[in-house]
Amino acid sequence: MIDTSSASASLKVPTFADVEAARERISGAAHRTPVLTSRTADAMAEASLFFKAENLQRAGAFKFRGAYNAVAALDEFSRRNGVVAFSSGNHAQALADAARLQGVPATIVMPKDAPEIKIAATKAYGAEIHFYDRYTEDREAISRRLAAERSATLVPPFDHPEVIAGQGTAALELIEEVGELDLIVVPLGGGGLLAGSALSARALSPACKIVGVEPEAGNDGQQSLRKGEVVRIPAPKSIADGAIVTHVGDHNFAILKHTVHDIVTVTDAQLVETMRFFAERMKIIVEPTGCLAAAAILQGVLRCAGSRVGILLSGGNVDLKTFNDLLSAR
Ligand SMILES: *Cc1c(COP(=O)(O)O)cnc(C)c1O
Repeated sequence: MIDTSSASASLKVPTFADVEAARERISGAAHRTPVLTSRTADAMAEASLFFKAENLQRAGAFKFRGAYNAVAALDEFSRRNGVVAFSSGNHAQALADAARLQGVPATIVMPKDAPEIKIAATKAYGAEIHFYDRYTEDREAISRRLAAERSATLVPPFDHPEVIAGQGTAALELIEEVGELDLIVVPLGGGGLLAGSALSARALSPACKIVGVEPEAGNDGQQSLRKGEVVRIPAPKSIADGAIVTHVGDHNFAILKHTVHDIVTVTDAQLVETMRFFAERMKIIVEPTGCLAAAAILQGVLRCAGSRVGILLSGGNVDLKTFNDLLSAR
């Protein structure tokens, strides 16, 4: 870790060495997901595309990597007291699963009206669920209070050095497997996956351009990169529910601001067309957020003719009813 100076003296910004350490910790627990190719996709982009299929990761998304690494990095005392997360999405499931595998108690703070299927899945991973009212209560405050009461460790979804290092292992595996790239394209929410991927790409493929992709409705990352500081926006509305954050994390931005070449956006309609492409042509289910990077390439937002391009498919957690509704509403 590198301690950054001045204003952000308390930030521990991870380096590629932390990604390599994460790889050791998660090996045997996380899947080494396949890299998929498609001649149809290559023809659409006039490029060589390599899709890292994190929709096939444990618990259905890359989040397992960062969550497992964060739990594995805890000392004995902290392991006994457990971990806490606030999220109703992929991070909560991933943390619950990662904690159970390592014999660490987990508490997940979830809204009372979270979908039944998510509550059931989190319980099945053996986590304790603490419900709150999303209209009257502040989940971050509740989580901090719970963590303090139990001397437990709060594991945030993206703004955390071990989480970022863990997420970086997906791009590390991708570049190791296919060789150097001209471009790597990564979905962007709070910036855990993009920051981690940037650490790996810089170390293993120094000439590779690094581009993040956000939903058009929430381009806070794009604004932040242009302004040179973290920009906050109201919670955006998009079908990319894994990327509807109001701002990127501080640890994340400390990496992004000097490694990422550009951040572009795609529309919900472009995400749906990309989900359809994956289902019809490549026979895989990718959730809306998981399609962000691929949509930028396959829908022509980013030009990459003649290039070798790595694309992170970040997750596959979408229930079939939602999947069907999205694909049938033309
Ligand atoms: C969380 C998530 C993202 C966004 O990741 P960040 O690390 O927050 O940028 C993208 N895709 C999926 C499927 C996710 O679960």
